[in-house]
Formats: sequence, C-alpha cells, structure tokens
Amino acid sequence: MRKQKRYAQAVKRIMRPELTHCLECQRKLQRCVTISDRMIITLKQVIRLVHCGYRCPHPDCSGRTTLYRSAEADALALAGFTFGLDIVLFVGQRRLREQQTVDEIHQFLSEQLAPLDQTISRREILFLFEAYSALLRAGTEVTHDEGWKEQVRKNKGIVLSIDGIQPDKGNETIYLIRDVLTGRILNADNVTESTKERLKELLAPVVALEVPVIGVISDAQPTELQAVAELWPTIPHQICQFHAIREAGRLIYNADHRVKTDMRIRMQERTHAYRHDLHKRLREAEEKKEEKAQEIKQLEILEEYAAMVEGALNLDSLAPFQYGGLAMQDALMKIETSLEKLEKGGRGEPNVQEAPEAPQDDCELASGEKRAPGSDCQHAHLGRRGRTHL
Ligand SMILES: [Zn+2]
Repeated sequence: MRKQKRYAQAVKRIMRPELTHCLECQRKLQRCVTISDRMIITLKQVIRLVHCGYRCPHPDCSGRTTLYRSAEADALALAGFTFGLDIVLFVGQRRLREQQTVDEIHQFLSEQLAPLDQTISRREILFLFEAYSALLRAGTEVTHDEGWKEQVRKNKGIVLSIDGIQPDKGNETIYLIRDVLTGRILNADNVTESTKERLKELLAPVVALEVPVIGVISDAQPTELQAVAELWPTIPHQICQFHAIREAGRLIYNADHRVKTDMRIRMQERTHAYRHDLHKRLREAEEKKEEKAQEIKQLEILEEYAAMVEGALNLDSLAPFQYGGLAMQDALMKIETSLEKLEKGGRGEPNVQEAPEAPQDDCELASGEKRAPGSDCQHAHLGRRGRTHL
C-alpha cells in the first residue's frame, strides 16, 4: 500500500497574481477563488502552497471572466505533481545530459531530501522523467490545442512569463515560457548561454502561434529585456520587482505576523465573551426601555468600543509592506486613548478616523489561520454600523 506522505517541515506560502489590476478596465482585482492548496516538495524545502486566483470585480467588464494566477506559483510545480519543477528538471538533466542511471539519481535525491524528512521512490523518478520529456514537447503540442486557443481568444491574448531556472549548480538554465493567464507552458528548453539571440530562438514558437501578446513578466535579466523589446517593441514588460521586495521584507513581515497572532490569541476570546455578555445585558435592559434609557445608551457605547477592538484584532497583513500587527497596535492605542478620555469625563470619540476596517482579503483565512467562531469581519462591520448612531 502507498504510504501517506507526511509534511512536518512544510513552510506555508500564499501566492497571489503578479498582475494586480484588470487588463481591460484597470480596476483593482479581487480574490475570488483558491486555485490550489497543496504540498510541494522542492530540492530545498517543503512548501504548503496556497495559490489565490483573482478576477476583475466589475460586473460589466469584458475582462470579467479572466482568472488571474500567480506565475511564481505555477512555476513551482506542474499541475498534479507533488514534486517541484526543480526536481523534474533535475531528473531530466541528470538522465539525458549526464547519462546517469535511475539508481544514481535515486540515491542522490534520497540524500538531498532526507533532511526535509522526505523520500522519493525509483518509480516516482521514472514518472518525473516522463514529465520532463513531456515538458520539452509542450511547445509543439500547444499549436494543436484548440481548447487552449479558445481560452486565449476569450482572454484577448496571452501574458508571457519568462523564467530561467537553474536546477543544478552549473551553467545550464532551463527556460520556461508560459502564458500567465492560462498557466500553460508554451516552450521549455535547456540553455547554456542566455544571449539575446538564444532567447529570441526560445521565444520563436510563441511568435509562430500568432496570438496577441498583451504583456510580458520576467526577472530583470538584460538579455531577456532586449529579446522581448525586439520581438514585441510596443507591449508592456513588467519586471518581477514585487517578489524581490517581498523577499527582502520577509523578516520584518514574519516578525510582525508572530506579534499579531500572539495579540490576537490573547485578546480575542476575552473580547468575544465580553461582547456576548454586553448583548445579553442590552437585551434585558431593552425590555424596560423607559426606566433604563441611560443604561442602554451606556451599553451601546461599550458595545461599540468592543466591536472596534474585535475589528482591530482582525486587521490583515499584506506582503510586503502592510503590517497587520502594527496596524492592530495602532488601532488599539487609539481606542485606549479614547476610553481614557471617556473615563475622565470628557467626550470619548469612538469614531476614530482610522477605525478598524474589515479584512479585505481572506487568503490568510483560507490558509488555515485560526479565528474564534463568530469573530470574523461581520463584527467589524457591526462596529462601523454602530458608529453611525452616536
Ligand atoms: Zn475589468
């Protein structure tokens, strides 16, 4: 029987499309679906990938049906594979170029994966080699894929992503040319010299497809920029600076995330219980409306504060620079200041300008982050609604 794989060392990564605005109407895209939530084993780490799909939010936009994916997520592993693309490429290269036997590759990979607590079987290596061979055929197959071409017509063209991957230390790079909008691989090839001319050769099958190219995403390699500029002089070329910046900011982002989670754990349950109690007292007081008018007013104000605290606890982070923990602290401080004023008999101002907003994006939630039941954004909305009647 097949042994279930275990992933004790998995690192969670949430990936969103590199394109943030609709190509048709330029509106900000919104998350609409989790394309996948799966484990990927690469040569270096085990990743739990949450791949978030986005769409244009405008109901009348002609680009409404386009699902935007993350090119980086698609580059990690082929669809349906647990082993990452880097391992597929590694197997292919060792087998074809260095004429290694399956046993030799098996031994090397087993040693490589041991620190990650992962194993790979001979059979899996054979399977990965088949995938590698299929990958190199991708460019010729796409010309006959009518279903894909229909999708491209709907998308009004393709957005190219050019990825150079070095599976092994050496001078060989595997280039993957993909359409970001459909995730489809258009060409894949081994390259020993990444000159402009060589890259143009790699892109030639894409030119031959005769489909409109809407844009290109690549890293900032100069020869890539030159090759694209010569083939498609007028189309926008976006450099994946976002990923570079996000990687640079990861330390702070992770530290902030830990603080945020810690604060949330400590305060959430208490706040929730407190609100529950307040609601009960409010209901009771409202049964004797006339004599308890003052108390009702007081309870309503307290409820509003509590709702805002709960809203603050649910503030989200967004890599690279939106720090949920800092925003949470900021919001809580404002609430505290306001409460202090109230206690001194001054006019408390619960309607703080930067009042907590409801989380805009539930990617964090999709990735299994725990939230106490009933403490979701509903309460933040409640808080906002509450503010209007003061
Ligand atoms: Zn749109």
